[in-house]
Formats: sequence, C-alpha cells, structure tokens
Amino acid sequence: MQIIQDISLVKSLCRSLKQEGSLGFVPTMGYLHEGHLSLVKQSVKENPNTVVSIFVNPSQFGPNEDLATYPRDLERDAGLLKECGAGYVFTPTAQTMYPDGFDTWVVPDKLASVLCGKSRPGHFRGVATIVLKLINITAADHMYMGLKDYQQLRILKQMVIDLHLDCEIVACPIVRESDGLAMSSRNSYLNPSERKQALSLYHGLLKARELFEQGERDCGRIIETIKKSIQDSGGRIDYIECVNPLSLQSVQEAEADTRMMLAVYFGKTRLIDNMALKA
Ligand code: AMP
Repeated sequence: MQIIQDISLVKSLCRSLKQEGSLGFVPTMGYLHEGHLSLVKQSVKENPNTVVSIFVNPSQFGPNEDLATYPRDLERDAGLLKECGAGYVFTPTAQTMYPDGFDTWVVPDKLASVLCGKSRPGHFRGVATIVLKLINITAADHMYMGLKDYQQLRILKQMVIDLHLDCEIVACPIVRESDGLAMSSRNSYLNPSERKQALSLYHGLLKARELFEQGERDCGRIIETIKKSIQDSGGRIDYIECVNPLSLQSVQEAEADTRMMLAVYFGKTRLIDNMALKA
C-alpha cells in the first residue's frame, strides 16, 4: 500500500489506475473505525483500485470546534487500510489543499440551511469544497460515503448533479457498536458515563420506529417522546427533527421514508445519528 502526500503525484497515479477499470474513492478524516472500513471494503469489492484520503479538513470546523483536538493516528489507520486491501492512501497537508491565495468555495444552499447547517454555519461549505477538490484530484468513478452523515450525503449527491460531476456517490449503511451506538471517531471523546448516556440516541431512534409501527403519524408527538427520553438520560439536544429524505425540510405527518435526524451533546461531545421511520 502506498501513502502519498503530493497532489500532482496522486493526480497522475489516479489517471493511470483508471486505465485498469473503475476507480473507487473513500474520503475520510482518519482515526478509522469499522464504519470507515465498511466503505473501504465495499469499494475494494466493486473496483479494481481504491484510493482512501485521510485529511482533517480545517475549513469544515467552526472557530470553537475540535479541529486541534480531533483524534489522529496515521500509523494505525495505514495498518487497517492495508488489511482491507486499499492500494493507496492520500494524505495531503492543509497548506497544499489551501495554499495562500485560495479563494474559491462551493456553497450549498437550501440543503445546508437546516439541521447541522444551522448549528454549524459554514460547515457544509467546507465539506462541499474539499470533496469537490478531492473528486477533481482523484477523478474517481465511485465515491463511497456513509448514511451516518445523512445531510452531508444528501448535499454531496446534489452537488454531483448540479455541477455535472462524473462521479457516482455510493451510500453505505450505518455501522454501529454491538449495543447500537453509531460508530464515530468522536466517540473517543466520551467518558464512561457519557458513553452510556449516548445510547439514548439509538434507543430514541428505535422508539420512533416503534411509535410509527404502532400507527403514530404525528411527528410532533414522536419528537416529544424521544426528546424526553434523551434529556432524561443526560443528553443536551441540539436538534431532533423528522424530515423529508430529499428536501431535508421538517414534516408534520410521518411517512415510511421520513428521516428522523438527531444531534445531541453528551458532555462537550456532539453526536449525530439518523434513521428512516420504517425499516
Ligand atoms: P469522517 O472521517 O467522519 O469524515 O467520515 C468519513 C466517511 O465515513 C463519511 O462518508 C461518513 O459518513 C462515513 N462514516 C463515519 N461513521 C460511519 C458509520 N458509523 N457507519 C458508516 N459510515 C460511517
């Protein structure tokens, strides 16, 4: 497995890899867990070559967020990627991705004005910009992304359509710990009692499904029930919303494909999770 920092080297490498068939690409911020690795494994299965990027993208962090403390362990990540059969890891520096004079941004509009976009202004501008840059650098045919970051996935799928990119986004299921907590690099911030509290996210989503199954269609009532159980467990709610899976706009009446979206703080750690109301 090759680890490459240089942008022009990766560019020419990817163009020559594409002569062997489709190129799969998995963008990550590193500190890999089974959620990331599931994307890599799927790409390795579906493409003759897979490139994984590891880049903690400064432009998607707000001024009071965890850019400096975001967990990093390149050596361990490289070992895991090698085991999964990824051939190439791209690890650019912030200085090469955002050199002096950098001035061009991709600014998603309506889809980025709700949910995480409200509490993290500028976040999706940073995400869309870096992902477009990475797609341009790799010229990937297929890009693998997790449903864990549902809003991000939706915004990037729209970007691919709107900007006529020749890259298909493949959405991959959420990988959870054995007790149900969605895997996330940020779970490493949780102390043992916050880790227990954080399970209320998954339990809340299951409860929403159960209510829907029993015939409840009023999103307000579903949200109230879940809100209470998460708050009782010690979580501080950023948002809980039932949304249309395409527009991401809040809905009042629940349907099978309505997406329940959650962002909750446990201590200082903000976690997100989501689920469709019907399995
Ligand atoms: P990140 O390193 O957090 O930027 O995530 C990189 C990619 O991994 C994104 O497409 C995420 O949606 C995906 N991902 C993160 N956690 C999970 C998970 N638990 N299950 C599936 N995909 C995930």
